[in-house]
Amino acid sequence: MEVVRYTYRLRPGATATSALLAEWGRCRFLWNEAVHQQKVGAKPTFVSLSKMLTEARARNAWLRAGSQVAQQQTLRTYAAALRHSFTVPGRGRPTVKTRKRSLPSMEYTLRGFTIAGRRLRVAGGITMPVVWSRDLPSPPTSVRVYQDSLGHWYASFVARREAAAAPEASEAIGVDWGVKTTATTTDARFDLPYLGHRKRCAAELARAQRKMARRRRPKGHTHSNGYRRAKHAAAKLHKKASRQNTHDSRQWAKRVVDHHQVIAVEDFKPTFLTRSTMARKAADAAIGAAKRELIQQGTRAGRKVVLVPPAYTTMTCSSCAARAKQRIGLNVRIFECAACGFTACRDLNAARTILATVERDRAGTDDVRHVTTSLRNAGSNAVRAGNPLDSTVGKR
Ligand SMILES: [Zn+2]
Repeated sequence: MEVVRYTYRLRPGATATSALLAEWGRCRFLWNEAVHQQKVGAKPTFVSLSKMLTEARARNAWLRAGSQVAQQQTLRTYAAALRHSFTVPGRGRPTVKTRKRSLPSMEYTLRGFTIAGRRLRVAGGITMPVVWSRDLPSPPTSVRVYQDSLGHWYASFVARREAAAAPEASEAIGVDWGVKTTATTTDARFDLPYLGHRKRCAAELARAQRKMARRRRPKGHTHSNGYRRAKHAAAKLHKKASRQNTHDSRQWAKRVVDHHQVIAVEDFKPTFLTRSTMARKAADAAIGAAKRELIQQGTRAGRKVVLVPPAYTTMTCSSCAARAKQRIGLNVRIFECAACGFTACRDLNAARTILATVERDRAGTDDVRHVTTSLRNAGSNAVRAGNPLDSTVGKR
């Protein structure tokens, strides 16, 4: 059995929408109260926050008007976020959720929601129709009700489902990320080209953003309706592009995972490539989505997924493991080894080096360590390999 999320569109009416927004206002207040406590030196835990909640509800009728389940869950989420900020390196403390900057999101546990017929009913007597685009695999154990930047509402259910056994596979594959080809692999049949429709989408998005810029009024003035419309159109295109990314990446990742037992992945950090151009950002987003799906599906299927640090992978020869003296410029597409004369497409060489790093590590697993921190969302069974430089040199 595996735990999965199933997300559906909600169509709350005017009454339900305003009730949801009021509920969010109360949850947001409690979250910010917890942030404030932490800032003045307390180290709030879920226990101390629950006590605070009981007292606050006794004092304030307007808090009592809201659902205790949603409020408790907000504080539980806060406490978990705070705990992680102490244990996970690089994770900041939870911050204040402002009215303008944050989007509504409430979680309801088992006793806080029911599904009655075609509708979802959450604590506080809020009912709304659900667009049941597919069947839930089992009765859900919790639901998160949230609104996105376009103003659409969704319900994301947590449910269990029978894990489909992944097909037998023994092969290993190396994956290198890039702008022109999203994923170059050691086996050309599994390459993921950078898809053209995304480029068209990026151009449309750029046009929408120019329109926004033209209609923007000077600071301090209220936005015009034309500006709001342009902003909404841009946000819609953005959403569309990210949905297409997710869809394509899912199908590609499934194909890779179905055919390979060992998956060596370049541990790409989008910040390296993110420049100002829209095209670059779109390419980065495609890589981000593909990497996320590959790790998630790979670990879920019980494959060995190893993340290889990107340093030196493009400079190391995948044939003799010699390292080039200088970094190769981004415009040089062919890798040529000075030591053994091996030549290959730059990305293919990198993919082969990534795979070689992992295969060598399999012999001596000393420098493969489990990563539970930065892979929290990935099911945390992926491992991170050592730097190819530290180990390739002198071992061959
Ligand atoms: Zn070489």
